[in-house]
Amino acid sequence: MLRTTHCGALTLDQLGEEVTLAGWVQKSRDKGFMLWIDLRDRYGITQIIFDEERTPKSVMEQAQRLGREFVIQVTGTVIERESKNPNLPTGEIEILAQSLTLLNQAKTPPFTIENETDGGEELRMQYRYLDIRRTPVRENLVFRSKVSLAIRNFLSAHDFIDVETPYLIKSTPEGARDFVVPSRMNQGQFYALPQSPQTFKQLLMVGGMDKYFQIVKCFRDEDLRADRQPEFTQIDCEMTFVEQEDILQQFESLLQHLLKEIKRVEIGAFPRMTYAEAMAKYGNDKPDIRFGMEFAELNDLAKNKGFIVFDQQELIVGIAVPGAAAYTRKQIDKLIDWVKRPQIGANGLVWVKCNEDGSYKSSVDKFYTQEDLAQWAKASGANAGDLILVMAGDTHKTRTQLSALRMELAEQLGLRKPEEFAPLWVVDFPLLEWDEETQRYHAMHHPFTAPKPEQIDLLETNPGAVNANAYDLVLNGNEIGGGSIRIHDAATQERMFALLGFSPEEAKTQFGFLMEAFQYGAPPHGGIALGLDRLVALLGGQETIRDFIAFPKNNSGRDLMIDAPSPIDTAQLDELYLCLQPKEE
Ligand code: ASP
Repeated sequence: MLRTTHCGALTLDQLGEEVTLAGWVQKSRDKGFMLWIDLRDRYGITQIIFDEERTPKSVMEQAQRLGREFVIQVTGTVIERESKNPNLPTGEIEILAQSLTLLNQAKTPPFTIENETDGGEELRMQYRYLDIRRTPVRENLVFRSKVSLAIRNFLSAHDFIDVETPYLIKSTPEGARDFVVPSRMNQGQFYALPQSPQTFKQLLMVGGMDKYFQIVKCFRDEDLRADRQPEFTQIDCEMTFVEQEDILQQFESLLQHLLKEIKRVEIGAFPRMTYAEAMAKYGNDKPDIRFGMEFAELNDLAKNKGFIVFDQQELIVGIAVPGAAAYTRKQIDKLIDWVKRPQIGANGLVWVKCNEDGSYKSSVDKFYTQEDLAQWAKASGANAGDLILVMAGDTHKTRTQLSALRMELAEQLGLRKPEEFAPLWVVDFPLLEWDEETQRYHAMHHPFTAPKPEQIDLLETNPGAVNANAYDLVLNGNEIGGGSIRIHDAATQERMFALLGFSPEEAKTQFGFLMEAFQYGAPPHGGIALGLDRLVALLGGQETIRDFIAFPKNNSGRDLMIDAPSPIDTAQLDELYLCLQPKEE
């Protein structure tokens, strides 16, 4: 070993011991007759002192030539520091250097490697290995490892078997585009990278594996929304002979365990909400329930009062913003501008101030009496001092817009507290979703999801009304997992494919293997997948998954460090039978 201990270990207990440390020079302070170095490794920082009187001259001179991020090995004695640093575990001691070996030099790093850095995001991604040297980034990765281990231990203790499934597969429709890999040995044919191991885990259940899990990379070629990665990690699970309730309980206890183990937070039974309820109350299928501001539908109270703008709308819906009655005209206008931005796309906002004296002041005073407004306040749960904001329009669109406003206001008001955890289950998702563009139904979860057994006959007559045995696990306004009870018989699966617009031939070419498997005694089964990146970020009190991924891609799906994707040479293209043609204009 090049060291006897590491840079986070030494305290007054080791006083007088001779030690050898190895690490990076974080910074040095040179007073001529005395020089200090902060030596850093994964475990911490230890101060090294070089002193004219006590350190050999040659060592002193060598130390004076060290630059930031040089890699060195130092041997010396643990001594008590004169001015102690209470913020460092090693802050009471320093190492009086006797010898020093330069293990490697370093160019001046492009940004400072300190907790607070001057490096911009892109630069830090390009030099990610340097960013990883910074404590906050390193701690996030260590934290991730701790969470993964806790998950593995929990699932193993509950009889789940870790099985690896292939990465070179045939495309599985989970709603996104596949990344494809050309096959050199099979001219003109392609593998797809899994959007998830969905069909494989189901086949493992047919294979009698009973309980499966895998912490696994999944790949989706989606247009990248903020904070999405083209490759991400799922905790993928499947169980045999279970009903929805069994899965909810199993994974509720996993999250409870993690919160307790990692955050020391104990949370009782998770609330459950149907999809319909979540949409009506929060305009969102992944509601943040850490704060109120629940939606109040005001159709009955606001229509036919002479305000024709409202009369024609499908939905009039409001929220009560706590303590915001004192907002100035300017503040309200800012909110109105915010909802009118193309990203939200609302027409505007109607506002009602609930004054402390019990009176109301609104932007629609001309049309509504004080009694009318009092009813709005009652319906939306507004108290004196609150501000009611109302939107109107098509049901779905308006809910989505108001939901965005609710989240924005919560952010502004500091109601999204990172160290508060509010998980819930959203259940009874619709099985299908109508897509205007393609004029077809899409599977809301995926095509292997089972309809509610009691609604199976509706599949023919009113497919849009059928709910699924599908559920999402939501934490603090983020979907952290989703799953379903699966179809396990070939006939229902065939019906499902037909509903989704697959011809029998298409279904057979794409999913023949699954339908075939279903004919050999497929057991009832179901499962779930949790997004590890997001879960770790949330448990870490943050929302950006990039900060918890060792080598993330940027918003355009590029790895700036290795510069990927990148062109390949003609020989490689030829070998793969690929020919790039310029796009015709
Ligand atoms: N394969 C699904 C997904 O990735 C999860 C599941 O149904 O288990 O969302």
